[in-house]
Amino acid sequence: MAIQVSGITKQFGSFRALDAVDLEVRSGELLALLGPSGSGKTTLLRIMAGLEFADSGSLLLNGEEALSLTPRERQVGFVFQHYALFRHMTVFENVAFGMKVRPRGQRPASTEIKRRVMELLELVQLAHFADRYPAQLSGGQRQRVALARALAIEPKVLLLDEPFGALDAKVRKELRRWLRKLHEDIHITSVFVTHDQEEALELADRVVVMSQGRIEQVGSPAEVYDRPASAFVYEFLGQVNRFDCVVADGVARTANGALSIPADGTVRGPAIAYVRPHDLGLSPSAGGPGRVSGIHVVGPDARIEIDLAGLPLEAEMDRERLSALGLRLGDQCAVHIDRARVFPQP
Ligand code: ADP
Ligand code: MG
Repeated sequence: MAIQVSGITKQFGSFRALDAVDLEVRSGELLALLGPSGSGKTTLLRIMAGLEFADSGSLLLNGEEALSLTPRERQVGFVFQHYALFRHMTVFENVAFGMKVRPRGQRPASTEIKRRVMELLELVQLAHFADRYPAQLSGGQRQRVALARALAIEPKVLLLDEPFGALDAKVRKELRRWLRKLHEDIHITSVFVTHDQEEALELADRVVVMSQGRIEQVGSPAEVYDRPASAFVYEFLGQVNRFDCVVADGVARTANGALSIPADGTVRGPAIAYVRPHDLGLSPSAGGPGRVSGIHVVGPDARIEIDLAGLPLEAEMDRERLSALGLRLGDQCAVHIDRARVFPQP
């Protein structure tokens, strides 16, 4: 099912949570809504689900106006951050619930419900836990049950609001890969809300970056990461070195004169330059302008802090590269910028 959001605005009192949002969700894709807390992600998702009303705009589900439909009529499955499983019901009963409460005419026979529940539990790899209660499951397992329960009503769209937000980092990563694989198997149109860039970039077919009730950029993970449309997207999508600078004749210079970076022709005057730590090259140089002020090695990765005439910089490279360079704490070095982006000062 394709979703078309046009000009959706939502105001809470005098606060505009969504400001004329346009968005297309393609049939069968896994789309991530990514943005900082308060950027309007949940509000947009709830409007799609029919759990919140929009002040204006339209929502088309497969070309049909849907804002006047109830959540049930929209046939959406919903998974929230906090596993809202029924505590007094087993895993099996939780997943069966949505089918059992259907009106008599639409309710499947109990043998069919059983078959369907077990099929879903196989899908989320929890068939062996059908008789357990939620309290007897880990957080990650509970979220998989919540997902099976959402899928039980055979939704046309799956909406997930920070479903792994309450889990620890390792489980989050596992579930992220698991959800990606599940999506590849079932291909249900899915919208996934997260404030975690890594999660969005790894999981989604396309990423929607939101800020202050507006969409900053929509694109594949590679597009938004490699070609951020705005300074906001650049900063939000990963580690950055950020310098205030002034652009003249196509070159951005920092006030201390230590760095000059080529800028594209459209930027002039006060600007901000961004360099990702892995786009910053270092070489040992006795008379070089930089000094190694910190080295942190974690597993195969090395993070090197540089003091460039008072300007703090951070570089990243793999550990082997660092040992090949032979740079040590306190050494002088030269700094090369392989890739940078310069945006006008907002
Ligand atoms: P996100 O999910 O991106 O963190 P939300 O969509 O939950 O953001 O909220 C966007 C903004 O709208 C926030 O500033 C939030 O405080 C405000 N907001 C959300 N729901 C309500 C509400 N029911 N009443 C008043 N303000 C709300
Ligand atoms: Mg939210």
